[in-house]
Amino acid sequence: MKDIRNFCIIAHIDAGKSTLADRLLELTGTIERRKMQDQILDQMDLERERGITIKLQPVRMKYKLPKDESLKSKASGISHSTLDIGQDFVLNLIDTPGHVDFTYEVSRSLAAVEGAILLVDATKGVQAQTLANLHLAQKQGLVIIPVVNKIDAPNARVPETVQAVAHLLSIAPEGIIKISAKSGENVEQVLQAVVEKIPPPDFSAENSGGQVAPFRALIFDSNFDAYKGVVAFVRVFGGALKSGEKIKLGMAGASSETIEVGYFAPRLVKEKLLSAGEIGYIATGIKTPGLVKVGDTIVKAYETAQPLPGYQEPEPMVFASFYPEDSDNFDELKDALAKLKLTDAALFFEPESSPALGRGFRLGFLGMLHIEIISERLRREFNLNLIISSPTVEYEVTLNNGEITKIRSASQLPDPNMWKEIKEPISRLDIIVPNEYLGAVMNLVSEIRNQYIQTDYLSKDLVRLTYEVPFAEIVTDFYDRLKSVSSGYASMSYEPSGHRLGDLVRLDILIADEPVEPFSKIVPREQAVSVGRAIVTKLKTVVPKQLFAVVLQAAVGGKIVAREDISAMRKDVTGYLYGGDITRKKKLLEKQKRGKERMKATGRVNIPQSVFLEMLKK
Ligand code: GDP
Ligand code: MG
Repeated sequence: MKDIRNFCIIAHIDAGKSTLADRLLELTGTIERRKMQDQILDQMDLERERGITIKLQPVRMKYKLPKDESLKSKASGISHSTLDIGQDFVLNLIDTPGHVDFTYEVSRSLAAVEGAILLVDATKGVQAQTLANLHLAQKQGLVIIPVVNKIDAPNARVPETVQAVAHLLSIAPEGIIKISAKSGENVEQVLQAVVEKIPPPDFSAENSGGQVAPFRALIFDSNFDAYKGVVAFVRVFGGALKSGEKIKLGMAGASSETIEVGYFAPRLVKEKLLSAGEIGYIATGIKTPGLVKVGDTIVKAYETAQPLPGYQEPEPMVFASFYPEDSDNFDELKDALAKLKLTDAALFFEPESSPALGRGFRLGFLGMLHIEIISERLRREFNLNLIISSPTVEYEVTLNNGEITKIRSASQLPDPNMWKEIKEPISRLDIIVPNEYLGAVMNLVSEIRNQYIQTDYLSKDLVRLTYEVPFAEIVTDFYDRLKSVSSGYASMSYEPSGHRLGDLVRLDILIADEPVEPFSKIVPREQAVSVGRAIVTKLKTVVPKQLFAVVLQAAVGGKIVAREDISAMRKDVTGYLYGGDITRKKKLLEKQKRGKERMKATGRVNIPQSVFLEMLKK
């Protein structure tokens, strides 16, 4: 049997997870030095451009315990007594994102492994997602290997960070490995700790009574391949599977013939057999994306096996409506969403229609970055032009007849005389901040609706502030503002804590006297004027000039609360229609026709997609 160790790297965003993965891949010779790139596991263009990890990424490595006794892990303090010098291991690593919007990627990764490297940035200390992800890993009962990173950085505070981590885990500071993922210093110690401290997969329960367990594989991620169909990323919990064998999906009930099995290098590498304890992929041959779901169990068609527990589906936190700019593209959008869902299990969508915009979808997300990433992926990977509404949280509205409805799009909020009360989602907000920025952070919080809960000290100079706040207050730009008032040192995490009554109104935005549904927003009554003003001011900078003057207005219940004017365009643009060659003229006319269609949707003024995307951004 192979000596397997399955683990993931968890941390706050930017702590150096992907960089540590680079060093591990180098050390184990998984990727040749000349093919090495920084953060090589960040394979999506968007990840590379933005320098952040969005998706979990598994990779398999081979590792031989060094023969040299002197290389024994100093940090773990454990000798190799139970392991053989020179022993070979198969290591399955999963790199994870650190941003709170992608936490579902982390929790799914944790269910596939026995241990986690908890990476803490020595220049920042313990941060909000350090704690949030640690708690997730502890709930799974994983072995934690604490590692302090960036010891090479001039502003690293190594002893303080080590102290804080030791305190957090109630362990001795000597048990914490100090590394530079950048230079590679001490990284070998991490590999040694992985094989020494993380247990191999345990099948004793599975194979009890001398029986060989049936094949069971938990799907933790997937993607779509035109030839291989849905490729399921799995952790095998029992038995073994060969390509060509018939499989069945537990929940969906679909069955199929396995096209191929293999592992991640990180590219897909075909293998004969995928067996218990391993992390790998199963090319299912299934071409209908919706049939393969993350959290489902793959079993053999002719075996009976209990499905694995799977995952709790994440609750979408923010919603936005997506309409194809060209209404003929509805089916393309539908298809694109089904495929995106395979690579982004946290994405939620349901069909919706609007008198002004036609057929579209309401999408649910974990946060604003998630919305931005999905909008961008729909544009890039699927070539879709979309009208995107202003994001909203989910409200609970009690109608006059006592019926309670959930509102996930501002334009759906009925007129105030139709309902009795409206409740909004509340979050428990934790902010971790070094002492010196405490004042600045408290000032910032005082600018939003908040209810103070408590303050506690994580270490001498690291404070955790806890509040209850309406989620709508923190979902948009609060994170960026927090970063800016604390020079990047404060971090935050939040979790839902019910709904609460609010004095809320619907703010409508009118362009040339026509309400533009996607821009409607539900806001606290006392903020209606300032939010309305901010929206029309921003719209003025992004709506292209027209041949006529355009009035931008914000209104509450028919009463105008803010106004801006866009003056008419001076130049006569139609002039150049008559100059060029005939094909260009045709193209322009074609464009104009399409533009008119869009105008139908949004009134007299043509609002290009870029305006909707711009309005999403801060
Ligand atoms: P992740 O978000 O946790 O995956 O972090 P990345 O691996 O993308 O790294 C974030 C940033 O920290 C990048 O600019 C890295 O070059 C930098 N970084 C990572 N490890 C180290 C380190 O050991 N020392 C220094 N000085 N910088 C590091
Ligand atoms: Mg990363």
